[in-house]
Amino acid sequence: MDIEPTKIPQATAKRLPLYYRFINNLHSKGKQRVSSKELSEAVKVDSATIRRDFSYFGALGKKGYGYNVNYLLNFFRETLDQDETTNVALIGVGNLGTAFLHYNFKKNNNTKIVMAFDSDESKVGTNIAGIPVYHIHDVVEKAKEQNVSVAIMTVPSFAAQGIADQLMEAGIIGILNFTPARISVPNHVRVHHIDLAVELQSLVYFLKHYPLDEEEQ
Ligand code: ATP
Repeated sequence: MDIEPTKIPQATAKRLPLYYRFINNLHSKGKQRVSSKELSEAVKVDSATIRRDFSYFGALGKKGYGYNVNYLLNFFRETLDQDETTNVALIGVGNLGTAFLHYNFKKNNNTKIVMAFDSDESKVGTNIAGIPVYHIHDVVEKAKEQNVSVAIMTVPSFAAQGIADQLMEAGIIGILNFTPARISVPNHVRVHHIDLAVELQSLVYFLKHYPLDEEEQ
């Protein structure tokens, strides 16, 4: 398979891990093929989008057969599973941060939280789920030491920009920002923003104003 990952549109690329997880499940259950309808129901993406996405992967579904699970699995493995693990740092060992340390994305074999940082002296020096918690003052030194390139920020909003500036110094190029704060970073740094409160509010709003049985399918 010689499909250039860069040719895949960004919106499609964002759905890749979702597809991968589902196809992996099918494969472990011994399924050989899957229809776009089945996929659509499982991952909640409409089947026209799935067909378009999969055409970028070089996977052409056959009528009455669907997609070949092995082909898709190989494609996703090659595209998503880099040889090297991406070392991730978690900043802010509060309630949410602690949950991430325990979870540690065990199902993704190519990303791993290897260290955590906090400014609270009572947390510094502890170890949560095998991950050491260091003082935020040491973030540049520690992150460089272990080649950390991605950070998850679970700190209060007011601290976000100051921490982002230190992360730049540490050579971080990707930030998953769980704070409501919008942070400024140089062009070479990618920030993905997840505001759980906004997502929840939006869900409640949609439930109220766009009940599912009225929505066009
Ligand atoms: P907790 O219940 O432990 O206070 P929380 O999730 O309710 O957690 P937050 O106020 O959101 O509390 O803080 C999350 C974590 O971020 C805390 O552990 C806090 O010590 C840490 N934190 C706050 N400011 C900074 C900072 N500048 N650098 C690093 N960590 C910080």
